[in-house]
Amino acid sequence: MISRIDLRGAARGEDSPRGGIDRDLLPRAELDVEAALEKVRPICDDVHHRGTAALIEYAERFDGVRIERVRVPAEAIGRALAELDPAVRAALEESIRRARLVHREQRRTDTTVTVVPGGTVTERWVPVERVGLYVPGGNAVYPSSVVMNVVPAQEAGVGSLAVSSPPQKDFGGLPHPTILAACALLGVDEVYAAGGAQAVAMFAYGTEECRPVQLVTGPGNIWVAAAKRLLKGRIGIDAEAGPTEIAILADDTADPAHVAADLISQAEHDTLAAAVLVTPSTALAEAVELELKTQVAAARHRERITEALAGRQSGIVLVDDLDQGLAVVDAYAAEHLEIQTANAAEVAARVRNAGAIFVGPYAPVSLGDYCAGSNHVLPTGGCACHSSGLSVQSFLRGIHVVDYSRDALAEVTHHVVTLAEAEDLPAHGAALKARFDGKVPQDQ
Ligand code: NAD
Repeated sequence: MISRIDLRGAARGEDSPRGGIDRDLLPRAELDVEAALEKVRPICDDVHHRGTAALIEYAERFDGVRIERVRVPAEAIGRALAELDPAVRAALEESIRRARLVHREQRRTDTTVTVVPGGTVTERWVPVERVGLYVPGGNAVYPSSVVMNVVPAQEAGVGSLAVSSPPQKDFGGLPHPTILAACALLGVDEVYAAGGAQAVAMFAYGTEECRPVQLVTGPGNIWVAAAKRLLKGRIGIDAEAGPTEIAILADDTADPAHVAADLISQAEHDTLAAAVLVTPSTALAEAVELELKTQVAAARHRERITEALAGRQSGIVLVDDLDQGLAVVDAYAAEHLEIQTANAAEVAARVRNAGAIFVGPYAPVSLGDYCAGSNHVLPTGGCACHSSGLSVQSFLRGIHVVDYSRDALAEVTHHVVTLAEAEDLPAHGAALKARFDGKVPQDQ
């Protein structure tokens, strides 16, 4: 069911045309976000012009449920928490506690550098004023994504935050009750029942019920990713966090049952999810293939998993050795990368491109999905070679505050005037000279 890709002997490093493993050789489906853009553009325009009425129509069309209003009443959020299974409540509380421990440490402090006596530059970190947090709810519902979005936003000091998640027809058109309960546990009272591109448009343009936001974060399917790409600029976005991916770099010390279970755990998200094993061991590859057969047959979501594993985005990649394996995982730049090899920490330290790295046999991706303390909103589709996962930093802007005295300005004016003239922008130099009777201060 899962294909094999044999890269043994393939060019690597400086021999390869791109200075590493050729990304086109790797099992990744081209997610056609560009094509999806054409479908989401009219949806976003419609929400822009018709607001709540458009959201209500899309809820009926895409989520199969007739809703009266998009804003979730406070009473429904309180009820969801009151009725939450105590075991789920305890697990969510632990997930929140661990996420807070990690994210609290990410807050940057302001820095002030004295460039010259009387001349300072301070970098002041200021939270975005209002953010919209998307929590997926199509194939599966993700209360864990409430935690992963809200905790860093709160730790950054964001003053106003709103959550949106698709309306569920089995729950009277409200988002899933566990999502509402997670919001209540985190003290979030502004929640909307809107999914997909239309939710991103609601946040970007605002509606009768929802004030516009400056930044939208959170994972989602291709429609969510396309809307974020379309509306980027009007709003800020985090990295595109689309259909999930796991890559596992493993040698023959890995347990095939664990490797197969971890591949399946991510394939369970979405038929477009990617599960990739990179190994120099043919024996491990064969054992994992056997394990997949038995474990998939017993899985609750076996149809979805089978489709994801059989897709061209998934595969078992055979490599010559761990060095080539590292070149492959760097070229792939997985959202989640597991290292299941001898000396896993040393191998992990050599990885350059990944959204998050899970080291050794006891750090499976599922731990990170819920309770490691790390964030699970991570860049997909190879974006991990230039972007990071969601963090406190995603919600902050660094503002440079420049403060120079007369003497400090006088000392550097001749350099500014010279550079301004070199760029043929003499008015720039004139702006400084105006402060010194139209002249360059001479006592340099
Ligand atoms: P979702 O909430 O992202 O999408 C559901 C919405 O999609 C629906 O409400 C509907 O409005 C819209 N939609 C469905 N069909 C459509 C169509 N034909 N045209 C336009 N809009 C349509 O939920 P999902 O579908 O379950 O996807 C969640 C995704 O999030 C999965 O791919 C999962 O892997 C991913 N995920 C990623 C991360 C990450 O950090 N990268 C974390 C969690 C989940």
